[in-house]
Amino acid sequence: MTDYTKQIHRCFRCGYCKFPSDYSDFNCPSYARFRFDTYSTSGRLWLIYAWLKGEIEWSEHLAEILYSCTTCKNCVEQCPMKFSSDIVDWIVAARSDMMEKEKGRIPPRVTSFLEDVYRLGNPLKERGKRDAWANGIKRYQPGDEYLFYVGCLGSYDEFGRRMARSVARLLSEAGISFGILGNDENCCGNEVYLLGEKELFQVLAERNIQKFKELGVKKVVTLSPHAYNAMKNNYPLVSNAYFEVSHYTQLLCGLLRENKIRPSRNKIKVTYHDPCFLGRYNKIYGEPREVLQSIPGIELLEMERNRENSFCCGGGSGNFVTDLLGGSEESPSRIRVREAYETGADILAVACPSCMTMLQDAVKVENLESKLAVKDISQVVAESL
Ligand code: SF4
Ligand code: SF4
Repeated sequence: MTDYTKQIHRCFRCGYCKFPSDYSDFNCPSYARFRFDTYSTSGRLWLIYAWLKGEIEWSEHLAEILYSCTTCKNCVEQCPMKFSSDIVDWIVAARSDMMEKEKGRIPPRVTSFLEDVYRLGNPLKERGKRDAWANGIKRYQPGDEYLFYVGCLGSYDEFGRRMARSVARLLSEAGISFGILGNDENCCGNEVYLLGEKELFQVLAERNIQKFKELGVKKVVTLSPHAYNAMKNNYPLVSNAYFEVSHYTQLLCGLLRENKIRPSRNKIKVTYHDPCFLGRYNKIYGEPREVLQSIPGIELLEMERNRENSFCCGGGSGNFVTDLLGGSEESPSRIRVREAYETGADILAVACPSCMTMLQDAVKVENLESKLAVKDISQVVAESL
């Protein structure tokens, strides 16, 4: 990428990036939440530009605005300019600069996130074993086909653990040889990278890559699209070690095509929420839907905003922990579960542990718990076996 300080002035605040392609609603989660132009894509870019030129000074508020971007890339899809693919890279570069030039004066919740990853290997303040959820799922051994990379939420979060167990069950049913890293696993670093802490990201990536090398890992399957994104797109910036990486929905899709998993008839209505790091970041829209549609009797109901227009749950860029967007009726996760409910579906299917935790909280606050069940795709499949 060209030096962002020489590019960022190119945004001329036309505002096209504020809307999905049919102009039906606001699509930037932080703008939808706060409704001030400074929290929109262009507002943020212009604030960064003014700070670079010395026209405004650093303030806590400026730092919060910069970090309230969930890096969802919805603006990247909607901005009609040639530079659009660089927008999130500019925001991430400005975060790195702010850490350096302002001597680390970033929002305290972001500092705490990064310190916890550095000290504990996860942002969730967990000190326990990473494999306490595993209950008999074995460690990876040389010769296993796949390393199942579970990640921080899969290791420690109640809902993430359920997802990890469910994916592991399906892989076992299909006869796949796989294992986990257990306590040898490290945070993938995806959020650390996006928060602008590139040095810490490098340390985390190197640790994971080193472990993969020691064990002779050739194929990694991830629970989280965030880990998938980090390993697919950012680890090659750190090392040229080769290993194939897939998200579990891609692997399940292949196993279903080969009839290694055979769901039975299940008459359910499901809507699917595209995670940003699977969809917009990696263009994986088809496989998760194919997995769901392989269940005979299922009815897949699309939300108004889907695929590249999908509305972020608000959890990206570490916000599932830092919660810089805070709670309100206009919180992205609450907006999203209302959209899901409007489809008439009984199940809101997700493919990401961050989306899972954000949307589980939102259905409770919206009093939709008894009407809309948030389930991982693997859980929907497992319940249909
Ligand atoms: S980012 Fe692109 S679409 Fe958005 S205001 Fe700037 S130029 Fe317009
Ligand atoms: S990446 Fe998402 S949150 Fe960030 S400015 Fe663009 S639309 Fe808004």
